Amino acid sequence: MGECRLKQTTKIINQAKKEGRKALLEPEAKLICMEYGIPVTKFKVASNETQAEAYADEIGYPVVLKIVSPDVIHKSDAGGVIVNLKNASDVGNAYRKILENVKKYNATAKIVGILVQEMAPSSTETIVGAIKDPQFGQTIMFGLGGIFVELLKDVNFRIAPITADDAKEMITQLKAYPLLNGFRNTPPADIDALIGILMSTSRLVIENPEIKELDLNPVLAYQTGAKTVDARIILE
Ligand code: ADP
Ligand code: MG
Repeated sequence: MGECRLKQTTKIINQAKKEGRKALLEPEAKLICMEYGIPVTKFKVASNETQAEAYADEIGYPVVLKIVSPDVIHKSDAGGVIVNLKNASDVGNAYRKILENVKKYNATAKIVGILVQEMAPSSTETIVGAIKDPQFGQTIMFGLGGIFVELLKDVNFRIAPITADDAKEMITQLKAYPLLNGFRNTPPADIDALIGILMSTSRLVIENPEIKELDLNPVLAYQTGAKTVDARIILE
């Protein structure tokens, strides 16, 4: 069974290599996450407006539309992400707007399609990362989103493979941990779900040493479960 499940990941990595791409597309990175049991938002890649509307219907409103292009790595910088689309006409408008924005950003960007995905309810944003350190090898990172990572550098690292205890420490030893443990109006987050994601990420990068960087940003932490909203994987 293990071998079967890993085939898709290997196929995706090999295909990117063949095309000379170092950065996997979001839907590719999310398929890999799914094979390792990391929860992601439901998604489909549309090639035209009608298809995008049909997929939105299937997934259920509200939805988010995003650009899928090997030439657009930071999608919101290019105006390539539009959230909270409530009906088919919103989806049609967002589809055209994203293509227009991306064309302005990079006239020659190759467009693979438009990603239609489930809109995850907002919640505490966490970040799960992996980086291949030249000395220590695959290293796993965890922190809270926004200012906690960018400004306060409140993140924890452990060398992979990590145990459940390592994962738990990475979470509970953050200065911002009280925010995950129930604070004012925010209910406590599902720490076991986050531990599971950290351990799956560890297994993912250990079994695929050609991964140089992995970035699940954000992973929304809920009272029950957690969900990866954006995934980026960079190959060596
Ligand atoms: P970028 O490539 O710019 O990092 P993201 O996919 O992370 O693009 O989208 C930018 C932001 O939009 C996210 O940080 C998140 O706040 C919001 N977002 C994206 N996808 C979803 C989603 N499926 N559900 C809810 N919010 C989303
Ligand atoms: Mg992101």
